Amino acid sequence: MKPIDCKVLVLGAGPGGYVTAIRAGQLGLDTVIVEATKPGGTCLNVGCIPSKALIHVADEFEKTRRFAGDSEIGISVVTPTLDLAQTVAWKDGIVTGLNAGVRALLKKAGARLVVGWGTMIDGKTCRVKTDDGEVRIRAQNVVIATGSESVELPNMPFGGNVISSTEALSLSQVPPRLTVVGGGYIGLELGIAYAKMGSTVSVVEAAERVLPQYDSELTKPILDKLQALKIEVLLGAKAKCLSASRDAAIVELTGNREKNIPSDKILVTVGRRARTHGWGLSELDLTTDGRFIGIDEQCRTSMSGVYAVGDVTGEPMLAHRAIAQGEMVAEIIAGKRRAFDAACIPAVCFTDPEIVTVGLSPDEARAAGLDCKVGSFPLAANGRAITMESKVGFVRIVARIDNDVILGIQAVGKGVSELSASFSLAMEMGARLQDIAGTIHAHPTQSEGFPEAALSALGHALHI
Ligand code: FAD
Ligand code: NAD
Repeated sequence: MKPIDCKVLVLGAGPGGYVTAIRAGQLGLDTVIVEATKPGGTCLNVGCIPSKALIHVADEFEKTRRFAGDSEIGISVVTPTLDLAQTVAWKDGIVTGLNAGVRALLKKAGARLVVGWGTMIDGKTCRVKTDDGEVRIRAQNVVIATGSESVELPNMPFGGNVISSTEALSLSQVPPRLTVVGGGYIGLELGIAYAKMGSTVSVVEAAERVLPQYDSELTKPILDKLQALKIEVLLGAKAKCLSASRDAAIVELTGNREKNIPSDKILVTVGRRARTHGWGLSELDLTTDGRFIGIDEQCRTSMSGVYAVGDVTGEPMLAHRAIAQGEMVAEIIAGKRRAFDAACIPAVCFTDPEIVTVGLSPDEARAAGLDCKVGSFPLAANGRAITMESKVGFVRIVARIDNDVILGIQAVGKGVSELSASFSLAMEMGARLQDIAGTIHAHPTQSEGFPEAALSALGHALHI
């Protein structure tokens, strides 16, 4: 097959890669993007989107189950049932629609999609195995966007009852007993969803706390919900191996104790690692940063004309970071002056309740040697939260003592993920407490907790 020559070659069409290609195409750069499976990457096919679809169904099912019989708010329904195979078919429909959307966006931007596994031969050349044979692509600029994959436990490899998040998003039946190994983002988002759909869930977490990346004030409402859902949480516990009959997880607890957890499925969610093998990394002269490809603030690697974006470049492994890097890299290749200098990268954990964080927590600010003040507003005092039957959680602001510049904002509560937009904007605009307190927030909305938290930090909250 005739070789393809282009200005930009993108390897991997996840959020990092496909956004690079769209923006490069928009800027008039001759762009080719190589994807082994379907465009959209982990995020669209087996990550953000399908997990949120499943979480939505679990929430709706839990809500409906609550109304089987009498309820305080006057709704009564017959006992509902859940057909998980139908749920998964619905979820697959969403994913397929969005796959087509990404394809259309690439086409509209003039970027060419080549489907097949790509292997770099050198810093300018990629060999792609397509259904129609091998294609050789030569590019002036290469963007590596190969993403990440689930970490496997050596003593509990994937297969049979042991599943990764990918399989957990496509089960045809709700497993009666689900053991989740790893109480981080994925483990708790999916563990809570399955508990709501009817599984008896156990969470095995090696650290002394679930969601160890968040402070205990933020995770307390999640712990309360885990208890309400009767999810067993084993802390300081490591999955050791499968039982001989392969229908139980054997877990090492502190004090050399062991526990046997009978399980229909064991979902292993102990992190994700950069996809750095199988595509010719060894043929490139790239400096690594631990297990990731090393990059500078312009996503340049150690090789001239080779960039890297997204999960393959490290933490935080979040879709919106990959997207922001991809957009920037396309502009840099087009000659624009850009650097990755975001004031914050928001993080949202779609547990019940949800957690949203931007910038520094109080502990992180103090650890950085910053004198700070903290204002907090409980959602139990927020009219909108009360009318939504949700009184748990709070909005919290961390600001410098000397000039009230905001250092970080956190919230936990029902639906607070949507507050991430105003939190990020406040950080990006360099807001002070007075800016937030002086911004009129619509009533009644949970967003009113934001200026109230600012007022609390200033010493005069109005509604507490
Ligand atoms: P990926 O999305 O991993 O895409 C890489 C692509 O490259 C893949 O399509 C792969 O097939 C392709 N590829 C790799 N090597 C080759 C090759 N040699 N040839 C051809 N193609 C290749 N993040 C959030 O921000 N919010 C969330 O709510 C969220 N939820 C998640 C839930 C789950 C269950 C999981 C697993 C992840 C979640 N994430 C979430 C993380 C998010 O999915 C990733 O951060 C994001 O997908 C990273 O994008 P990327 O472009 O770097 O890589
Ligand atoms: P994670 O890092 O969030 O959590 C992994 C957990 O497993 C940790 O709490 C760790 O202490 C524990 N662990 C590690 N080894 C263990 C062992 N042997 N036994 C028991 N526990 C063990 O990783 P994840 O949940 O797999 O998610 C991977 C990444 O995907 C996240 O870091 C995040 O970047 C991304 N993600 C984001 C979202 C979101 O933005 N809402 C959702 C899902 C995934």
